[in-house]
Amino acid sequence: MLNGQPWRGADGMAGKIGHTVVDPTGPVCLYGKRGCVERLASGPYMAQQARERLQARPEQGSRLRHLVKGNLNKITG
Ligand SMILES: [Zn+2]
Repeated sequence: MLNGQPWRGADGMAGKIGHTVVDPTGPVCLYGKRGCVERLASGPYMAQQARERLQARPEQGSRLRHLVKGNLNKITG
């Protein structure tokens, strides 16, 4: 919103920030951008990251493991 009106931008894409890079050292998304908002904060990527961390560190995440009854594929964003 800008001055009480929706701000649409030059091509109507002002609200599309998903692939804006916020961490140039971050992980790469499907479109090859490193550290974009989508890659760092979307539900599917957060779930993927949680699964990867739990697989790499079996001693951690007991609460989350309990919630999905040990099936890491049930983790969602
Ligand atoms: Zn991206």
